[in-house]
Amino acid sequence: MEEADSQHLHSDRRYGARMDEQAQDMERLMTRRGSLLKLGGLVAAGVGGWKTEWAEAGTGGISSGAISCVLAPEQTEGPYYLPNERVRRNITEGRPGTLLTLRLTVVDTSTCKPIQGAAVDIWHCDALGVYSGVPPAAASTTFMRGIQRTGAAGLATFQTVYPGWYPGRTVHIHVKVHAGGNVVHTGQLYFPDTLTDFAYRRAPYASRPGRDTRNAVDAVFRNGGRKSLLRVRRSGAGYVGSMAMGVHRSV
Ligand code: FE
Repeated sequence: MEEADSQHLHSDRRYGARMDEQAQDMERLMTRRGSLLKLGGLVAAGVGGWKTEWAEAGTGGISSGAISCVLAPEQTEGPYYLPNERVRRNITEGRPGTLLTLRLTVVDTSTCKPIQGAAVDIWHCDALGVYSGVPPAAASTTFMRGIQRTGAAGLATFQTVYPGWYPGRTVHIHVKVHAGGNVVHTGQLYFPDTLTDFAYRRAPYASRPGRDTRNAVDAVFRNGGRKSLLRVRRSGAGYVGSMAMGVHRSV
């Protein structure tokens, strides 16, 4: 069954279309980056440039407020974004996988303060590498997609499962942040490969071996993804993954 899924994905015409779209997205990003680079010192001295990171000052950074912040790297949304996702914390719809709690904090890079009321929109494939809403899943399916609004501390929390993998990409979660009516950030969140190796020993991941792309060789990850690695800790039988995303309110 899992092998059939994998072959389906390989032979799916959408897969080719997806890679084309990703190539186009990459091209646009590179063009954007190129034009930013042309601004030279202005950008470097100002907002810190396109490919910079938000960093915490130690593990207590968020709660203590002792934070520094710079932009989270923009990365392609890919072809599987669907608008009008549901507002909900638990996005699993009961599908199998190792529980993953996501704690995503949105910070305004111009003030270094958390943004309350931002809509954090995430989507990822299920434990078997399938996205809801697009083939081979039925168009009506919505698993592993959802939106949460940030609270006063800029925090949005999701309950999901550790994502599976699909051909040609490293393990990732897509994210968009909406604030003040604008999309202020589009990115992807990643996992340490060694952690994925470990997590994939368990069911249902173990029944689908052959993950073909790791972070270091992933075409999207290579474009700033290191700055979007989740901080992951174990929690009971699952994990908690945290990330703070520095964004501009206006784009
Ligand atoms: Fe994806």
